[in-house]
Amino acid sequence: MTGEEALARFRGLIRKIKSYEEVIGLAYWDMRTGAPRKGIEARSEAVGVLSEESFRLAVSDEMGELLARLREPETYGNLSRIDRRLVDETAKEYERNRRIPPELYREYVVLTSQAEAFWEEAKARSDFPGFRPYLEKIIDYTNRFIDLWGVKGTRYDTLLDQYEPGMTTDELDRLFGSLRDKLVPLAAAIAESPAKPDRSVLGGTFEPEAQRRFSLFILKEMGFDFEAGRLDESVHPFATGLGPGDVRITTRYLEDDVASALFGTIHEGGHALYEQNIDPELAGTTLYTGTSMGIHESQSRFWENIIGRSRPFWRRYFGDLKAHFPGRLDTDAETFYRAINIVEPSLIRIEADELTYNLHIVIRYEIEKMLFDGGLRAADLPEIWNAKYREYLGVEPKNDAEGVLQDVHWSGGAFGYFPSYALGNMYAAQFAAAMERDMPEMWELVGTGRLHPILDWLAERIYRYGKLETPGEIVRRVTGGPLDPQHLTDYLERKYRDIYRL
Ligand code: ZN
Repeated sequence: MTGEEALARFRGLIRKIKSYEEVIGLAYWDMRTGAPRKGIEARSEAVGVLSEESFRLAVSDEMGELLARLREPETYGNLSRIDRRLVDETAKEYERNRRIPPELYREYVVLTSQAEAFWEEAKARSDFPGFRPYLEKIIDYTNRFIDLWGVKGTRYDTLLDQYEPGMTTDELDRLFGSLRDKLVPLAAAIAESPAKPDRSVLGGTFEPEAQRRFSLFILKEMGFDFEAGRLDESVHPFATGLGPGDVRITTRYLEDDVASALFGTIHEGGHALYEQNIDPELAGTTLYTGTSMGIHESQSRFWENIIGRSRPFWRRYFGDLKAHFPGRLDTDAETFYRAINIVEPSLIRIEADELTYNLHIVIRYEIEKMLFDGGLRAADLPEIWNAKYREYLGVEPKNDAEGVLQDVHWSGGAFGYFPSYALGNMYAAQFAAAMERDMPEMWELVGTGRLHPILDWLAERIYRYGKLETPGEIVRRVTGGPLDPQHLTDYLERKYRDIYRL
């Protein structure tokens, strides 16, 4: 087999895997956006079967032979940059997945796709004991996977590497420690400040239909391509990139809260802009995606917080928002800006302000470490969860729905994912500092609603690359240095000392 033949067959296999992924992604989207409850079980089975097929291809002997042939030095040296990276990434996945028996993987996929629906019900009834057996099984499978993959460093490191390649518990202890040291005193100073923003200006009833229209308007302003995507509703907002021409996001409209859907939409919109602006040359390959969960999250956070909760943004858009809700939001842009940036310890992660949000992540990070390296049992989760909320945020859940059951992640087996959110905040602040340096007119552009140069800057330096570069490579190339938490703490200090007049 010549190198060219091997490459053609390899590319064919990748295209097949990518096609399975696309249809599986579509099925998940359907299950989360209103598929009939009675259809969930059969659909989960179908997803399980397709996932198993895709998995079989990825770990097939044929894949092994093709990878070995393509990694021969002479052949490898003649590959394009894209093909080399595709071979490297596929080989890493191959070696990892080859250790998991396909049958075990299928069982796991069926379990997690059913567990999501059961989690939703358990959350609605605030019934942790009802969800616990599923959670225990998922933890059990995860532990079996860790054993099969092999442990490097800690057991939790093995999980982290799936979402943020190269990230370790040691590094996170350092990064998160630095955040905590700066943010706890800042939050305390804010609590003491007499200059409190006025929350009441956000009160009122906001028709979901008008909220939806404004969400669509803001997405257009951001540069979301509606011919290559759509906006729907789901209990837990998410974004899913099915392919170059189909990137879907969801939000949820609360009648008594205009901010929830608004910032949820901008957040998921940021994820979508990333997926919609990947280099078309990567289409049909497994590099057509974000490079890591942390970098992906940096983009949703960049748009949601750094742009979407900025003063210039609301100087420009507050009038448009008011026009969607006649008789409400009876205030000015500055008062509104301060109200949407209220810092206050709270129970629900997805409703948290951008400062204390980081502490919600530290709590989950510490609990997950304990689950996999500290001998914590699922049965003890509510107790430790509530204790940590008391300790770090000074608040305590009244029930498990607003406590340990609030997040979807564990029902899908996504242990090691949560740190990505705080990493995203750190990356976002570091990218923003680089953007301000490269483009001094940045805030003037935001203040006049010219967001396209902002999108172009990000697309050119980050989005375009998809998974062609690692998180570390992208951060260094774009900002000139490695990930440094000080960009985030400086940004938060500046912003909140101004708002709270400290
Ligand atoms: Zn996100």
